[in-house]
Amino acid sequence: MEEQVESLRHAFKDDLKRVKDSKDVEQLKIKYLGRKGPVQGLMESLRHSSKEERPRLGKLINEIKVEIESLCDQAAQGLHEIQLKERLEREKIDVTIPGRRAYLGRKHPITLMMDELIDIFSQMGFSVQLGPDIDSDFYNFEGLNFPKDHPARDMQDTFYITPDLLLRTHTSNVQLRIMESHEPPLRIICPGTVYRNEDISARSHVFFHQIEGLYVDKGVSFADLFATMNEFCSKLFKRDIPTRFRPSYFPFVEPGLELDIQCTACDGLGCRICKNSGWLEVLGAGMVHPEVLQNGGVDPEVYTGFAWGMGIERLAMLRYGVKDIRQFFENDMRLLEQF
Ligand SMILES: [Zn+2]
Repeated sequence: MEEQVESLRHAFKDDLKRVKDSKDVEQLKIKYLGRKGPVQGLMESLRHSSKEERPRLGKLINEIKVEIESLCDQAAQGLHEIQLKERLEREKIDVTIPGRRAYLGRKHPITLMMDELIDIFSQMGFSVQLGPDIDSDFYNFEGLNFPKDHPARDMQDTFYITPDLLLRTHTSNVQLRIMESHEPPLRIICPGTVYRNEDISARSHVFFHQIEGLYVDKGVSFADLFATMNEFCSKLFKRDIPTRFRPSYFPFVEPGLELDIQCTACDGLGCRICKNSGWLEVLGAGMVHPEVLQNGGVDPEVYTGFAWGMGIERLAMLRYGVKDIRQFFENDMRLLEQF
């Protein structure tokens, strides 16, 4: 019996060396002290020993039982401390390390320009209306007085999706929708992205942004158009800036005109930016063509109106001194971080 106890002690100590965590310890305890374990086996074999030997052997078995229990408890405690220490080490926070700087995003220069234009026209009583980027031929061309075989369609190279669906070539596609769904007086601006099938160069891109304006009411005249555009220019450039209006042609207005401002770089003296003319083209405008009013369900005998449209990139290039339109869309942080 003594030998059995001794070999049990050895076996247990060998096993104990191999435990890795508290779960192993628990299993080891069950293995040795459980109901089917060797300690219980020894207890049962006591029955076969003599009455005189029994107290001494019983004590021996009890001692090994207590020893296993206490070694298991110690091992569990030790493992727990090691695990805690490791966890504390792993989760240590050094409060003296400098924090990471939060990177603040900025608005894109095109968005800044757009916001500024929307602000100016909102102050003048215009409300923002949006329209779809993909539209039918009717809203982009036909209804705006561009018949199918009209040569003016060649002025804007178009991305067609189907013979009747296209990527809008101008934000003017919103005009008819608003006229159809609202009664005059109408005073709206329509900012958005437009698409043209053009070669990409320093001055043109396949997509860019426009803001369109429309004013329809009784008795709206050319004088209102001049006054509104002049007011807009002085608000945009924050001073009274000389303007001039040149006759031009757009199918959806009659008469049509283009607005130039005195070159902001040379004050009209002539420089490279204005190609020595002293003037910079800012927008196209005109009195809404009676056909277009009719197509929008507005009676041209009762109402008149004016409309205008301008490219945001062009203004942003002037405002921020960006020389190449492609730079706006290249996502170069060196440029974007300057705004
Ligand atoms: Zn100039």
